[in-house]
Amino acid sequence: MENNADCLGAGESDIARYFAKAAASRTPLSASFELTRRCNFRCVHCYLGDQETIHQHRSRELDTEAVFRLFEEMTAAGTLFLTLTGGDPMIRPDFLAAYRRAVELGLLVTVFCNGTLITDEIVRAFVQYPPRIVEITLYGATQATFEAVTQRPGSFAACMAGIERLRQAKVRLRLKTMVMTLNAHEFQAMRRLAEDMGLQFRHDCSIHAAAPNDDNGGRSNTGGSLLDTLRFRLPPEQAAAADMSVEPLAAKLRELAQSTEERKPSGKLHHCGAGKSSYHISPYGQMQPCLIVPTCSADLRAESIQAGWNGPLQEFADCPASASFLCHRCENRKTCTSCPAVLALNTGHPEQVDAFYCQYAEQRCDLRCER
Ligand code: SF4
Ligand code: SF4
Repeated sequence: MENNADCLGAGESDIARYFAKAAASRTPLSASFELTRRCNFRCVHCYLGDQETIHQHRSRELDTEAVFRLFEEMTAAGTLFLTLTGGDPMIRPDFLAAYRRAVELGLLVTVFCNGTLITDEIVRAFVQYPPRIVEITLYGATQATFEAVTQRPGSFAACMAGIERLRQAKVRLRLKTMVMTLNAHEFQAMRRLAEDMGLQFRHDCSIHAAAPNDDNGGRSNTGGSLLDTLRFRLPPEQAAAADMSVEPLAAKLRELAQSTEERKPSGKLHHCGAGKSSYHISPYGQMQPCLIVPTCSADLRAESIQAGWNGPLQEFADCPASASFLCHRCENRKTCTSCPAVLALNTGHPEQVDAFYCQYAEQRCDLRCER
């Protein structure tokens, strides 16, 4: 079967236009679906929190039949893009059945995984039913660094083997990383590793606290509180320097910082696509505006996707900002990666700024000026 994205002939700018149109008409074009929060890694920075507690909640996960029903509802609601994520979604024995069903229904499926659970059967299915893309996270360029993050002996070799399997089968693949204190010294080496394999690579420096809920026990994978993940965050100047070492990101940031275009605050709190063109489904059947917003949710075991979209997610999209919200009057917001949902996680309030993001945004502008 031909890759659906290729069939549509859609490039990145076409897709950006679909999303702008979807947001303008409030169409649920895109969804992410955590098939599970269980994972075979124990990453120190993981936003999901304590894996031992998460594994105890396995019986609460949606079963195969419920997942199929939700896929059908998604397509009926107008959803085209689906990201299957976790945890590692491949830890579920029915991952392949779910993947095939989503593709058969016409959804353009992206898969996020850690690369270590890719079997021959999964590779064959990806060849027969091509995903839009598979994204695998690298945590280091060497075994020592990679496994200092994942806390799982053997995870580096298993991840490399998974990448190689997909490459050999010519499955569309991208590598990515979370740049943090434990692996920043190997950032350029990770980029070269991807380049040498002819693979795209992207990175993110925004480690944040995990959303507290019953499923993670309020603890991180290192045994500390969920806020403890923040200690692995790079200092803002180092995070900005990492961004500015990468083209075309650096060029884009320079362009943004120099742009004189004024974005007038709409009066709404949220300016992303959450609740306007996109939504998220948790493994326990909660429909949320996005992965990190557990509030404003609908229970999909009792309600339909359409009801959730017209109810709590509409409320989220319409939520007003207060007149005093600093971010809406900030000169650096063009280069800022923060949003009210991230602020709520890190500070406890969606309008309480996190000094890290202010310094990071400022540094991204300053580094641009120095070049
Ligand atoms: S691979 Fe991802 S989901 Fe698994 S522990 Fe690491 S950060 Fe969490
Ligand atoms: S978080 Fe700080 S830098 Fe970012 S928009 Fe808000 S005030 Fe500006």
